[in-house]
Amino acid sequence: MWICPQCRRAFARQDQAHFCARPQTIEDYIACQDAAVQPRLREVRAILRAALPQAQERISWAMPTYWKGRNLIHFAASKKHLGLYPGGEATAAFAEELKGFDVSKGAIRLPYEKELPAELIARIARWCLEAYGT
Ligand SMILES: [Zn+2]
Repeated sequence: MWICPQCRRAFARQDQAHFCARPQTIEDYIACQDAAVQPRLREVRAILRAALPQAQERISWAMPTYWKGRNLIHFAASKKHLGLYPGGEATAAFAEELKGFDVSKGAIRLPYEKELPAELIARIARWCLEAYGT
């Protein structure tokens, strides 16, 4: 898979020709991704919406973002994984539970072939709301 550096869309082929535009909503963002990963993106969106009903959905840093007073958590499609970006304070707070996951600099890489840790994602999202939300 290849990620366009301009619009952050993921494609099966390197340098895939496409209408390169920044999606304005999370639904647009998901619709622009490779069909194979869209169900996974919808799954994480449903988890985050349920965990953060008070947050607004928006695109920030070209990524789907949950916002309440400030950015709480982002997610993004990457080549082989779904990236979840709760920030370094969150990954530090959950370090014990995130053992066995690929974590660096506030990012958690969740491989597409593995089941999403839905309950853990929801708890991390709520932690972000408590820690960062206003
Ligand atoms: Zn593009």
